[in-house]
Amino acid sequence: MDRFCCFLKCIECGQEYSPQEVIYTCHKCGGLLSVEYEKSKIPSDLDEIWKKRPLSVWRYAELLPIRNKEKAVSLGEGGTNLNRCKRLSEKLGLKRLYVKNEGENPTGSFKDRGMTVGVTMALELGMKKVACASTGNTSASLAAYAAKAGLECFVLIPSGKVAFGKLTQAIIHGAKVIQIRGNFDEALKIVREICSKHLVYLLNSVNPFRLEGQKTAAFEIRDQLSGEAPDKLIVPVGNAGNISAIWKGFKELYEQGMIERLPQMIGIQAEGAAPIANSLKHSLTTVKFVKNPETVATAIRIGAPVNWKKAVRAVKESCGFMETVSDAEILEAQKLLAQYEGLFVEPASAASVAGLAKLIQMGQIDRDETVVCIVTGHGLKDPDIVLKRFRKPVEVEATTEAVVQAMTSKPQAAQVLAS
Ligand SMILES: *Cc1c(COP(=O)(O)O)cnc(C)c1O
Ligand SMILES: [Zn+2]
Repeated sequence: MDRFCCFLKCIECGQEYSPQEVIYTCHKCGGLLSVEYEKSKIPSDLDEIWKKRPLSVWRYAELLPIRNKEKAVSLGEGGTNLNRCKRLSEKLGLKRLYVKNEGENPTGSFKDRGMTVGVTMALELGMKKVACASTGNTSASLAAYAAKAGLECFVLIPSGKVAFGKLTQAIIHGAKVIQIRGNFDEALKIVREICSKHLVYLLNSVNPFRLEGQKTAAFEIRDQLSGEAPDKLIVPVGNAGNISAIWKGFKELYEQGMIERLPQMIGIQAEGAAPIANSLKHSLTTVKFVKNPETVATAIRIGAPVNWKKAVRAVKESCGFMETVSDAEILEAQKLLAQYEGLFVEPASAASVAGLAKLIQMGQIDRDETVVCIVTGHGLKDPDIVLKRFRKPVEVEATTEAVVQAMTSKPQAAQVLAS
């Protein structure tokens, strides 16, 4: 197949670049880049081609920038379940709620969708070293895919602010982990500078190829909903790559005539790290960054989201909006998902469901609408937050009587210590 079926295009000035070029932002104006496909080269029978392959990122190869699928660096990413949440939707007062559990990905977050494409691209470009700044999951994912590809991997993380599980992942996969005394935004600035000057390939979400992998979540949702898009798509927002990627995915389906209508995109940010949500609410024309972002949801503890322009477009084009949720609301949603649906997700992931609960109460979501919430990462990545919050299990003598007594006594371990 033709290698040059795609090209890079600046979202600001329209300047085009070859996909063979190592470039992250427009040389002319500094704008973000987007991967575009030659419409005439997209097969017209995509549905027939895709149906023959299992649900996964690579099912959608025709709309991915990599032509040689055999060379993909893959750990089996995508194909995550779309859970119909009957108990939770009843509790919230909604008819059809689905939760897409991205924690099922190989390293436990949606980042794997992007990394399988991004790291494959790194190989195609002949890069030997890859790097990222991370709140945790990007580093866990990149470390794993770099290991699989045999690439040297560097990750910068904010010291003391990365969930335990994610840090252990980056370490075991052999990445060079560098903790900086600063936050994620500072780490990203440093790594972008290093990658612009040295032969190190940057795999943060400013990299447009990574977002191509992430857009497949939209393709999967369409396939899992029998060819339809939901009314509302709710997603946690940090650096704002994922909401942009998912919207791009839905738009491409629409342009191919594969869905009849587009979903409204709703982004949820944590109150202490809500630069885009707050700027949109105040109808600002630009996004005012947050200097010291703070939230229990460390994966979205970001004050200067690099993809804010793409995200604002996604929200506006889809007639969607953004909302904020408190840490308490996030943790309550995490508990609801675990105890009503059997889904254990990390705090940042629960932001989408926390947002849903808030929006239903505010009357912004109709009870008859079909809603899909993306939950972004696995709960086991951040066990500390659970152990801090919930009562320790009771301990009793090893006798039947003692156990029976414990079974009937209150309080139970599942109760929250303090909110
Ligand atoms: C990366 C991440 C996010 C934020 O995604 P963005 O693309 O940065 O907006 C949310 N939740 C989890 C678990 C993540 O790992
Ligand atoms: Zn430009």
